[in-house]
Amino acid sequence: MMSDVRKGLIMVNTGPGKGKTTAAMGTGLRAVGNGMKVLMLQFLKGSWHYGELDAVKAFGDNFVMKQMGRGFVKVGGAETDPEDVRMVEECWKEAEEAILSGQWDLVILDEINYAISYKMLDPEKVVEVLRRKPEMIHVILTGRNAHPTIVELADTVTEMREVKHAYQRGIQAQRGIEY
Ligand code: ATP
Ligand code: MG
Repeated sequence: MMSDVRKGLIMVNTGPGKGKTTAAMGTGLRAVGNGMKVLMLQFLKGSWHYGELDAVKAFGDNFVMKQMGRGFVKVGGAETDPEDVRMVEECWKEAEEAILSGQWDLVILDEINYAISYKMLDPEKVVEVLRRKPEMIHVILTGRNAHPTIVELADTVTEMREVKHAYQRGIQAQRGIEY
């Protein structure tokens, strides 16, 4: 099936193996190299300083990355801190505006799947916005446990399978590789 139809894709990087966020960033790099504008909003993240935050500064307004959380989210019923929920809502508000604005060619919603699976964000809200996104806008959603309704809506879904991870042998996160 070959056609040259141009279409904005909805993509999901999920599963327990390493590489969900970094694959999304790799796609961002590819897009920016094609003259496209990329926005990456990171749900939940905020406590660690990742190398990519500095790296994308080289692209100016063409590749913008923002941490919208504070890391180390406690979850489960009453355990969930309302402040974290508020930050997720804030991030989602910005994501919705960014997607619908048509100002960006690719919008990456990093770790949004966690926010949904932790019940901090309603998947129906996300699906509703993705359904009425401008035709040409691409969106990538990352994080483990992608919600079934989002998987169903998506065009491309990749599940990273963990064969093994250094962490299991007690090897701590390495600078430049994990952050
Ligand atoms: P990366 O950011 O390296 O692409 P990821 O997005 O697939 O990883 P997350 O689930 O977002 O992984 O994990 C957040 C952090 O935990 C990252 O620093 C990541 O490298 C690390 N990590 C990923 N998978 C595993 C794993 N199976 N065991 C332990 N740590 C992991
Ligand atoms: Mg990740």
